[in-house]
Amino acid sequence: MSSEPTTRLRRRSRQGAGAHGPSFCPLCGTLVPPEMLELHAWAEDWVLKTIREKNPSWVEPDGACQKCVEYYQKL
Ligand SMILES: [Zn+2]
Repeated sequence: MSSEPTTRLRRRSRQGAGAHGPSFCPLCGTLVPPEMLELHAWAEDWVLKTIREKNPSWVEPDGACQKCVEYYQKL
């Protein structure tokens, strides 16, 4: 009952994600286009939950690459 999404969003990642140019997937460290890191937005809630369980420091704004999303979907 105390999990408000807004409190989560206040934690910004240490490296301000660039608005342009390639970015690194925070989960696997692969260099991917920024739009790839938004793929997790399509993922189901349970997938995001699994990612968070395995990567406690990860927050949704950090993003995740397609490989990682697919990997956690198969878990
Ligand atoms: Zn990845």
